[in-house]
Amino acid sequence: MSARRFSGGRLIVASHNAGKVREIVELVSPFGVEAISAGEAGLAEPEETGATFIENAALKAHAAAKASGLPALADDSGLAVAALGGAPGIFSARWAGPEKNFLSAMTRVNAALEEAGALTPEERAAEFVCALALAWPDGHAEIFEGRVAGHLVWPPRGTRGFGYDPIFVPKGGRLTFGEMEPADKHAISHRARAFADLVLHCFAP
Ligand code: IMP
Repeated sequence: MSARRFSGGRLIVASHNAGKVREIVELVSPFGVEAISAGEAGLAEPEETGATFIENAALKAHAAAKASGLPALADDSGLAVAALGGAPGIFSARWAGPEKNFLSAMTRVNAALEEAGALTPEERAAEFVCALALAWPDGHAEIFEGRVAGHLVWPPRGTRGFGYDPIFVPKGGRLTFGEMEPADKHAISHRARAFADLVLHCFAP
């Protein structure tokens, strides 16, 4: 079945994260879409009670679409480490605590891997995952997921990027996401892949 396409001029960006809102506005503006952030629309932030990235993206998009009467786009992303049963996963942001300390979050991931005896790149396999949900006020949603596979190194390397970027080396590469040129990361990232699918199915002419 083909995806429902976005039509109409206005879209709610169901995020209170300024960086994500900016990225999404840049993505949809070439298609003549006016993007309004959840904050600008005065929408409350729903609790992320889902068990997966897709569930959390969908619940944020549905809540915003229902409250605003406009289509809404939400994303949820994180780092999934195979040897840790997929952790930190949907709790990636929360592992950094309220002060958003990602050095502490990365240290925790590495300590858990050492505890599990995971030393080789194969044993330290991980992926970044990004789920995007575009929901309409009638309850319909289109969902897209992007992933990038790699492995985790220690100590952290590079000051570009954010979050867990300094310990993640994409498959076939040598540099961490924290060391790479931002454009090189954006060409292969989980978020770029999910966005490309969304644009192809819902926005491109
Ligand atoms: P969200 O805002 O709940 O989707 O949280 C996503 C969290 O996952 C972020 O706070 C980062 O810690 C992590 N994350 C997601 N994407 C990336 C990335 O591209 N690089 C590094 N960390 C990321």
